[in-house]
Amino acid sequence: MIVILSKDISIHDKELIRSLLQNNGYKVREQLFGDDLLFSTSGKGQINKRELEILPGVARVAETTKPYELTSRETKAEDSIVCVGPVKIGGERITVIAGPCAVESREQIKEIAFAVRESGAVLLRGGAYKPRTSPYSFQGLGMKGLEYMKEAGEATGMPIVTEVVSSEIAVDMKDLVDMFQIGARNMQNFELLKKVASLGKPVLLKRGPSATMEEWLLSAEYLLAGGTKNVVLCERGIRTFETFTRNTLDISAIPVIKALSHLPVIVDPSHAIGIRAHISAAALASIAAGADGLTIEVHNNPDKAFSDGPQSLYPEQFEKLMRDIESFSPVLGKELLRLPKETPKKNDLSGVWSTAFSLVGEKVAFSGRSGAFAERALINAFGEDMLRLPVTTFSAVFDAVLDGSAVFGIIPIENSLAGSIHENYDLFLRYPDNVIVGEIKLRIVHCLMAMEETNIENIKTVRSHSQGFAQCREFLDKHSEWNLEIWPTTTDAVQSIVKEGEGALAIAAIASEAAAKANNLKILKAGIENNPQNYTRFVIIARRQDGDRQLLPPGMENTAPNKASLVFSVKDEPGSLYECLKILSGEGINLSKLESRPILGQPWNYLFYVDVTIPPDQKVFERACKELKSKSEKFHFLGSYHGV
Ligand code: PEP
Ligand code: MN
Repeated sequence: MIVILSKDISIHDKELIRSLLQNNGYKVREQLFGDDLLFSTSGKGQINKRELEILPGVARVAETTKPYELTSRETKAEDSIVCVGPVKIGGERITVIAGPCAVESREQIKEIAFAVRESGAVLLRGGAYKPRTSPYSFQGLGMKGLEYMKEAGEATGMPIVTEVVSSEIAVDMKDLVDMFQIGARNMQNFELLKKVASLGKPVLLKRGPSATMEEWLLSAEYLLAGGTKNVVLCERGIRTFETFTRNTLDISAIPVIKALSHLPVIVDPSHAIGIRAHISAAALASIAAGADGLTIEVHNNPDKAFSDGPQSLYPEQFEKLMRDIESFSPVLGKELLRLPKETPKKNDLSGVWSTAFSLVGEKVAFSGRSGAFAERALINAFGEDMLRLPVTTFSAVFDAVLDGSAVFGIIPIENSLAGSIHENYDLFLRYPDNVIVGEIKLRIVHCLMAMEETNIENIKTVRSHSQGFAQCREFLDKHSEWNLEIWPTTTDAVQSIVKEGEGALAIAAIASEAAAKANNLKILKAGIENNPQNYTRFVIIARRQDGDRQLLPPGMENTAPNKASLVFSVKDEPGSLYECLKILSGEGINLSKLESRPILGQPWNYLFYVDVTIPPDQKVFERACKELKSKSEKFHFLGSYHGV
């Protein structure tokens, strides 16, 4: 049993709780767990949980049935997010660690670091102390290697993760590493676990080659009980009768461990399989099974690698894998974590990483309430910690960005099943001072939800946003007796049911699973969209900056924009649209979208909405825009950004 204490508990109340537990036969250990102070108990005590819960100073009591109490989901229901400098692991993101098996020289680690960073890795791996099966194999460069690695990490802006093999060396390594790796062979070296735990740094805990899942979680318990706040579990293959592959990747461990524990789980397909040709497939399978990230061995010259060359990817293979992960992540409602292109600077005073720009205290506006799809897109783009400004309409998002109450806004503009959201395209013309600075794609899964007492047979009315209805048309057609009510947002529809309470027993809403959870509604049917390939494209908007550098979302600074959105109208004469499009094709500019919209108040006159790919030579694009402007009647530049 774990007793989580209130943040403001008095010393007096704390001692009362401790004595009560001890007098009832428990051994009590006081410890910090994340930001929480708690008593974890052991022994054969007996106490009424309710009696404890109502005591002053008790925030929560978690009864655990597992021997790994702090690691168990019973103690902490929500996913833990581990921070290593600016890099986060866990939640709705995919975090990729990459680098060589071992640091071989200053030049080698730097070269690989730049290559993997360029492809999108966010943490640099590499061993300076190598636990090798044979005493005659390369044992690593030791402290020197660590220094080279640190240098490479700083040059590329990536925190570093490296294996620690003994308690004595751990102390020397502490100031050079950002995350300790406990290797598979040392998973049950309990003295090492205790020592590393006492140093307080984040730890990547590999699964032992013959460790059961419970043994692995108990090793994590050593770390949490010993004072480490940030632990990430890493599946790296186990010993089975199969010898074709180096080990056997235990894919089943990913969902099982994620259900048993709140800790993030990543996968090392390199050591699991040991054969370069199969690493990428296993990496993608791991992501599909729910892994929070990967650690991948990459070498610029694998044939000459001092260790694990046959399983190391070539930088080009790693780049391809990263592109596949990027396009695959939205299917799972996740986002590949990127770091700002600009190298983050170390804050010299505190030794804590600070990002190159600060969004601290700033807000991002979205339309809807807690659980809205736009909120999920916002979290995927900016992270859980970003302050959110929920507003009730799309135009209020534009207003918030314009008047500075939000630094960015997030707006849906196109859905893969229902098409463009014209209302929002029109808003860009009403708010010329707001500009598109980024885009994000989100997979949309719709659920039918209602109060606990409601069954699908009792439903008379369904509420949602018009897009919710459009995207679930085929499901709704099977229930033509239902009365459909359009609400401003899907989350407004959900909240209306909660507000009406008993009066809403014959009403259901269509919205996200998160909205059902946030409002305690029951999901009657999940995945009711016409087709599972249902994506919404959101754009990130900011106030247009003239002269000054445009503020860009995290991860997109200094990235050359590769996409732009334009709106123009043409003269009502033969060939005028052709003339405009000819300018783009003449410059070799690819059109990714072309749509016409009636101009408000001018029947039978149209505006053309165009998305184009910006060629590498920015000047070509500028020339084309200038010419297009001169040939068209109206011309609006909605923004240039990094398209995904
Ligand atoms: C490594 O990651 O370099 C390594 C040695 O892995 P493992 O401990 O999983 O064998
Ligand atoms: Mn290796």
